[in-house]
Amino acid sequence: MKAAELIDKFVMNTYARAPITFVRGQGCRLWDDQDKQYTDFLAGIAVCNLGHAHPGVAQAVCNQALNLVHVSNLYYTEPQAPVAQMLVQNSFADRVFFCNSGAEANEGALKLARLWGKEKKNGAFTIITMERSFHGRTLGTLSATGQDKIQKGYDPLVPRFKHVPFGDLEAVKAAWDDNVCAVLAEPVLGEGGVVVPPDGYLAGLKELCETNDALLLFDEVQTGLGRTGKLFAHQHWGVAPHVMTLAKALANGLPAGAILAEEKAAALFGPGTHATTFGAGPVIMAAAGVVLDNLVNRGLVEHAEAEGFYFKARLEELSAKHACVSEARGLGLMLGLALDREAGPLVNRLRELGYIVGATQDTVLRFVPPLVVSREEIDGLIAALDQVLAEQES
Ligand SMILES: *Cc1c(COP(=O)(O)O)cnc(C)c1O
Repeated sequence: MKAAELIDKFVMNTYARAPITFVRGQGCRLWDDQDKQYTDFLAGIAVCNLGHAHPGVAQAVCNQALNLVHVSNLYYTEPQAPVAQMLVQNSFADRVFFCNSGAEANEGALKLARLWGKEKKNGAFTIITMERSFHGRTLGTLSATGQDKIQKGYDPLVPRFKHVPFGDLEAVKAAWDDNVCAVLAEPVLGEGGVVVPPDGYLAGLKELCETNDALLLFDEVQTGLGRTGKLFAHQHWGVAPHVMTLAKALANGLPAGAILAEEKAAALFGPGTHATTFGAGPVIMAAAGVVLDNLVNRGLVEHAEAEGFYFKARLEELSAKHACVSEARGLGLMLGLALDREAGPLVNRLRELGYIVGATQDTVLRFVPPLVVSREEIDGLIAALDQVLAEQES
């Protein structure tokens, strides 16, 4: 039997997969088991920022795997040192905690918020989060998530999250009471449809938190690490949170997550209060070191910013030309095309033409390519999109 048939038979049925089996990649290109070539504008959902089969990452992983794979966090290992140092020295944070995924990073950030409420706010434990947000699939993070479809069937949920409309500062003020210990927000909604907040929004959240001695938590699992054309998305507005989570792109496809925090929040964790078996494993950290080196020292963020401007301008041309497109939006290389119809059929049609893209919130085409994407690759996608949008209207 082929891999797809075996997987359909033996693996739990949690994903609506496209009928395609990828076998190799290189940069922004992918090949399936029929040797058909694709250009990848999804990057494993905003993960493979350095592109597929990156030689630097592959070399670092191989060398480390031949040396030492795992000993646990009961001991020091070397590869996490430069990663922690680069994250702290290039962010607002004083310390970092390493884990394995976005959900796990957010779960840890929620635990920090609980400790903050206990220690500084008489046991306050309400956390304000946003409608249409996405924070993960654990019981805690799905409770924080502001989407019914993610929560359905899993109640009773973890108390007590108050969901307010994204981008609406007045709604946050109206929801505020003495039991609020933290606010959790994505700087740009990802799964929620690639939505950039109005100017002043993040600054307003920060001010509310500072005034009320609450923690501001930014979920930069998707927006972080160069995706929006800055190392972290909050830098577009010059508003640093007290705590930030990272994951997706941190190790270019190997599982990694991180919580970054100011000392006042980081100090709430002490030995025994939080832990993970696999977090900061040497192989993962070897890959993350190469990722951060490319972002911080080798111009990858600047490349993402420049190509993002170009890509968005080309999407705006398509938006002006095609009636079924209502808006081109996003920041850097986290871009969306909002349609007046289901995006699924266009995703399938683009795949036939050799382009891998995503869809979110049913009607939004989503583009989150490897940050190494070239102008020629963007032009190729734009031509294919132009054709597919014209087909929709004929
Ligand atoms: C993907 C994502 C998560 C969840 O990350 P996992 O690694 O799948 O647990 C959380 N928050 C945001 C903003 C995400 O995009």
